[in-house]
Amino acid sequence: MKSTRGQSHVSIDEAIVQGLASDFGLFIPDEFPHFKMSSFADVPNLATYALRVLTPFFAGSRVKLNSEFCHQIFSFPLHLVPLNTNRYVAELFHGPTLSFKDFGARFFAQCLQQLASQNTIKVLVATSGDTGSAVASAFHGMPGVEAYILFPKDKISDRQQIQITCWGDNIHAIAVNGTFDQCQQLVKRALSTSDHPQQFTTANSINIARLLPQILFYVYASIRVMKQHGQAVNFIVPSGNLGNVTACYWAKQMGFPIDDILIANNANQVLVDFMATGTYQAQSSIETIANAMDVGDPSNLERLLALFSDFNHFKKQLNVASVSDAAIKAAIVDCYQKYQYILCPHSATAYHRLQDVSPNKPWVIMATAHPAKFNEIIEPLLKVAIPIPEQLQRLLSKKQQLILIEPHFDHFKTIINH
Ligand SMILES: *Cc1c(COP(=O)(O)O)cnc(C)c1O
Repeated sequence: MKSTRGQSHVSIDEAIVQGLASDFGLFIPDEFPHFKMSSFADVPNLATYALRVLTPFFAGSRVKLNSEFCHQIFSFPLHLVPLNTNRYVAELFHGPTLSFKDFGARFFAQCLQQLASQNTIKVLVATSGDTGSAVASAFHGMPGVEAYILFPKDKISDRQQIQITCWGDNIHAIAVNGTFDQCQQLVKRALSTSDHPQQFTTANSINIARLLPQILFYVYASIRVMKQHGQAVNFIVPSGNLGNVTACYWAKQMGFPIDDILIANNANQVLVDFMATGTYQAQSSIETIANAMDVGDPSNLERLLALFSDFNHFKKQLNVASVSDAAIKAAIVDCYQKYQYILCPHSATAYHRLQDVSPNKPWVIMATAHPAKFNEIIEPLLKVAIPIPEQLQRLLSKKQQLILIEPHFDHFKTIINH
């Protein structure tokens, strides 16, 4: 693995344990393996795809990436649901906490457990919604790990909050009286100022182990569509920190049959502005109803830029648009009226962009979370009750435990050094 800033070169194991490179860049693969499509003709399930596609990245690793490992992590389905003859929804939300973050969080947790030394590892994570619950679920009860999950108080949905605060044991939920950006600053400061850096790591999507398993979404969907239509697939990806769409570009780089890639943002339009001006300027995030995408300074932009030779090339290959809250609501209503299909607000940004695309090509929109996590937004719009999946139902009755703090580092430090 090498750093996007070029100064650091490490093994996959070191990249996972370090998270961020020592030159403060992000780790990316030195090179991408190439696959023949014919070798995927007989793949029975996601775990088998995972084994074939991810093994080359783990050459020489202490992580035992075998069939058992993959089956343990990819134990829930990924459904490709047709809306009509050439429009599909890829449902990435059938994991334990109902968002696509479960794939990356579970993969990361299993890797970390195999790579951990004797000492307790403290995993710090700032979340704008779904990462926190996925990480909590993935690490709950794991020996040798304490997880500290910071979320901005009152800025996530009630059900997102329950999924973070219901665990207890080695999971510490911390509600910060501030914004997501302030949560992230607390984590960064703890990581950069610790006297025992090897004791701390982060589970945010800067970690390469969160991104690699997401390549499978695009592998799986592109092969299915190729079989069905004899054509390359086109994707629309709801994006915030740009991790998921980076995995899509990586799958394309690896030779999977992918044609156009469209990015859908919410009203946070830092990327739209960058494309227009050619000058990158981080923005403070603004609150939207697609809250897991409220990002004003996407960390994975560095990984995307690293794929292209210069800004012009980058600009040609990236197609991004910002979708307002009003347009998200209209998309949820439209999709339900046309197809009786209920989208979450994030997935609805991708649906909105279907209006920009050629009708003659197969399109897949990535559905990143289950709508039942956002019942407060969707039910009043559609006037229907969203059935609650059983894995969420189980958590709803549990007792919530959280620590409330002001966004001050001293208080946070006391908690994590306890
Ligand atoms: C995290 C998240 C996103 C954004 O994904 P990135 O990889 O950060 O671009 C979109 N939708 C949902 C539901 C999420 O939880």
